[in-house]
Amino acid sequence: AKQEGRSTFRFFTPALRTHSSRTLRLRNDLRLALERGQLALVYQPQVRLADGKMLGVEALLRWQHPELGPISPAEFIPIAETCGLILPIGDWVLRQGLQQLQRWDAAGLGALTVAVNLSAVQFRDLRLAERIGQLLHESGLPAQRLEIELTESCAMINPQGSINTLEGLRQLQIPIAIDDFGTGYSSLSYLKRFKVGRLKIDQSFVRDLHLDPDDRAIVRAIIGLADHLGMRTVAEGVETAEQLAWLREHGCDEAQGYFFSRPLSPEAMQAWALARAPQ
Ligand code: C2E
Ligand code: CA
Ligand code: CA
Ligand code: CA
Repeated sequence: AKQEGRSTFRFFTPALRTHSSRTLRLRNDLRLALERGQLALVYQPQVRLADGKMLGVEALLRWQHPELGPISPAEFIPIAETCGLILPIGDWVLRQGLQQLQRWDAAGLGALTVAVNLSAVQFRDLRLAERIGQLLHESGLPAQRLEIELTESCAMINPQGSINTLEGLRQLQIPIAIDDFGTGYSSLSYLKRFKVGRLKIDQSFVRDLHLDPDDRAIVRAIIGLADHLGMRTVAEGVETAEQLAWLREHGCDEAQGYFFSRPLSPEAMQAWALARAPQ
């Protein structure tokens, strides 16, 4: 209801009317983006802090619009969610990510995992586990090679429903991470019942780690909580050696961010991985 109120307001604000017509245009063009090959995945490495080993990648969606240029997923994913396109796009991301793993397997990169972001709309789909199970089956890859990233706020929209859906995914042995952790007011008792494998510490807490004692306290608390609940922690948005050193020292398990690499095309990611880990 809150969101409806906001978009109504938006409609009557001249400054935002352009935004609204842009939204209409993007919604229209997004229908063709998939079939015209304008969507692509880029990949960002996830690194284990104990030994610097690359464990996997997060797949991030990109849209190269022929006239408007690159459109951020933060802009077009919400549009895709309102017009039913997120389900075919979400399936495409999963299929594409798994196919990429197969290519990297063939290129000798070692058994990496691919983490895929899931929208709240996909997560609400009662056939989610079935869909993902089918895509995994097509790929021939074991479920453990995939990881689903679900934001904390998305998991908390309907916590009991989330517990059920997560249970369905767990039965398929698909690893789950809670994304943007610390920003979404989750109750700690639900966190325990979600039984996910990893918590991704939101980058807003990592950014000013060296400046802000409150952020350090929050990150310490998240790492402690995860340890007690048997979850691994992944710090997002790590950009500096100082952040990395602090996180390692305080028991964070893994990290991801520009310090290691920006999100890369499949070819560039492959070159990065091969250069880093001559095994
Ligand atoms: P996210 O899942 O939290 O992804 C992390 C975002 O932080 C990405 O932005 C990534 O490029 C960026 N990032 C990574 N390292 C750093 C760093 O060191 N510093 C800074 N400042 N940023 C960093 P991106 O790619 O623009 O994606 C934005 C959001 O769009 C994602 O946030 C995710 O919520 C959503 N998204 C992306 N791909 C998909 C997708 O395939 N499906 C769905 N449903 N959502 C997606
Ligand atoms: Ca994510
Ligand atoms: Ca995140
Ligand atoms: Ca730990």
